[in-house]
Amino acid sequence: EAKSKGRNSYRFFTKNDNAEAHKRLTLQNALRYALEREELFLCYQPLLEANTQKITGVEALLRWQHPTFGLISPIEFIPLAEESGLIIPIGEWVLETACRQSYQWQQQGLMPIRMAVNLSVRQFNQPDLIERIVNVLKQTGLSPHWLKLEITESLAMNCATKTVQTLKILKSLGVHLAIDDFGTGYSSLSYLKQFNLDILKIDRSFIADMSTQNDITLVTSLIKMAHGLNMQVVAEGVETEQQFNLLRANGCDFVQGFFFYKPLVEKEMTQLLQRCRS
Ligand code: C2E
Ligand code: MG
Ligand code: MG
Ligand code: MG
Repeated sequence: EAKSKGRNSYRFFTKNDNAEAHKRLTLQNALRYALEREELFLCYQPLLEANTQKITGVEALLRWQHPTFGLISPIEFIPLAEESGLIIPIGEWVLETACRQSYQWQQQGLMPIRMAVNLSVRQFNQPDLIERIVNVLKQTGLSPHWLKLEITESLAMNCATKTVQTLKILKSLGVHLAIDDFGTGYSSLSYLKQFNLDILKIDRSFIADMSTQNDITLVTSLIKMAHGLNMQVVAEGVETEQQFNLLRANGCDFVQGFFFYKPLVEKEMTQLLQRCRS
């Protein structure tokens, strides 16, 4: 009895796993053609200075519009792209498209804003990463000063010495560097000190939780620590006025979240920048 039950549940799970695996395979295959079929596009989410509420930057966020599966979240396909290595050409396309867009907005006389691009671990660990970035900047005409690269804590788990070295070179080029989703990974604080980054982005899970005194204390301590390490702070996922007021009162430098703007398609972002100018 117990044995057959066990077997049944075993079979049940196997079926589920198969369905999952099948979907992953299908998506991974489709992803192979996403670039050339022009199914990928970027959205831009504004980042505001907390004190003035002025837009000072945008973050490029990748989207995949598949003809039959519909809009697929980067949460779903970035890990697949990492696994297959497709993240390299895709990441390069993101970097180039974002830099070109930023340069284009500047050429249109819209206020210069810093363009933030997310780098995956595999992308960061490419031996020729620096060369590629320098090339993209050259090709698009964007000054390194207007580019910000967002890396995640998991980088610290790989090879700290190499990471510190790469970050140093990037910084010497004039590129801004941010650590993303801070607080969700495993990096030790000593790495953070060595990395010498410009910006710490507090993960949105901490912002969402800011309703009890303990959580508020945690966020304000993170802000103080970052300032102590000479970093500016971005709070991501700000969804309410109360969160914003608390963050501003506690010295958070920049805010990003649905309370201000959702990620916008290129046309919407251009219109927003035009409104900001007039
Ligand atoms: P991330 O870099 O931390 O980006 C912030 C995510 O939070 C975005 O999700 C954004 O839409 C979402 N968000 C912003 N404000 C709010 C808010 O107020 N509330 C809530 N609930 N969410 C908010 P998205 O666009 O789905 O991207 C998810 C993740 O996928 C990104 O997290 C990033 O890690 C990754 N990703 C996106 N584009 C790229 C890319 O071009 N390259 C790489 N390597 N990763 C990317
Ligand atoms: Mg990011
Ligand atoms: Mg983030
Ligand atoms: Mg996040």
